[in-house]
Amino acid sequence: MHDVIIIGAGPAGLSTAFWCDELGLDTLLLERASEVGGQLHSVFNPIKNYLGVEASNGKAFLELISPQLQNSDFDQWTETSIKSVDLRAKTISLESGEQLRALAIVIATGVRRRKLGIEGEQEFAGKGIIDSGSCERNLLAGQDVCVIGGGDAAAENALLLAEVCPTVTLVHRGKRLHARREFVERLQPNHAITVFTESVVTRIIGDDHVQAVEIHRREGLKPFQLAVRGVLIRIGVEPNTEWFANQLQIDSQGYVVVNGEQETSVPFVFAIGDVANPQSPTISSATGNGATAAKVIASRLNKGTR
Ligand SMILES: Cc1cc2nc3c(=O)[nH]c(=O)nc-3n(C[C@H](O)[C@H](O)[C@H](O)COP(=O)(O)OP(=O)(O)OC[C@H]3O[C@@H](n4cnc5c(N)ncnc54)[C@H](O)[C@@H]3O)c2cc1C
Repeated sequence: MHDVIIIGAGPAGLSTAFWCDELGLDTLLLERASEVGGQLHSVFNPIKNYLGVEASNGKAFLELISPQLQNSDFDQWTETSIKSVDLRAKTISLESGEQLRALAIVIATGVRRRKLGIEGEQEFAGKGIIDSGSCERNLLAGQDVCVIGGGDAAAENALLLAEVCPTVTLVHRGKRLHARREFVERLQPNHAITVFTESVVTRIIGDDHVQAVEIHRREGLKPFQLAVRGVLIRIGVEPNTEWFANQLQIDSQGYVVVNGEQETSVPFVFAIGDVANPQSPTISSATGNGATAAKVIASRLNKGTR
């Protein structure tokens, strides 16, 4: 029996684990990936908006946390697959057959990339549809590409790809891009980049590799095909909640509903970070939520050194 089991080791889960450890709680942190850090592994932009810390990217930020990780006493299990969880009973069954129990559970499972759900999306994954502009752009160097989406991730990837690709077409269904100003200002003067707003990609076409995308620009106009060899999809995120969503209150988008103490509709089950906070998906909010949950749990369990 642990005091606290935390599911997910992104910034939110790590912050709760540090705080729980500091407050003297017996803490177990479970992570399905091989490394802790969550989305930090996908952040290639400089992190300049976390108070007191600047890092050139997510991995560099994680390196700043490493000494604290090494000096903490909480248990941390990576590559751990959860089979099922009973939130009311506070029990977790692992794929390995092991059963875990805690007095409190903290859900810190974050978000994942949303899929388009169009023809060709599955078929051409890894055959022209790439996962990351920064890691895989060399595969598409010299080729025409299409980036789908209108937020920070889409804009940032369009800029990265435009460094090595002759043309980058950014297709966004909204009227205006909602990427941060810094990115939008760099898109406009870039001659390699064309932005289609109020447009949707309806199909990804190819043979053994992507050859084109079908774009529908406006009602009444016929869709047309744009020849491209690469596609990158960045249309937002959705919360990792489906495997326990029927056990607590979630909102219409699948995010966990919490009160001001980060507690869910199930007593002693807390949710923190992006999975419970669509308004502020940031490292600051994730770590702050983590501290709140730890403090509340320690106080309810009558523990805590400060
Ligand atoms: C490209 C990009 C740039 C960004 N730039 C910034 C920035 O400049 N500043 C900023 O503040 N924020 C930035 N962010 C956002 C920031 O990274 C997130 O807000 C933050 O990582 C959220 O932390 P989290 O712990 O809630 O979730 P996540 O980081 O998503 O971590 C969730 C963890 O839970 C694990 N998990 C999920 N399901 C399970 C399960 N069933 N069992 C076990 N483990 C599970 C996942 O593997 C993951 O490790 C950026 C994000 C991206 C993608």
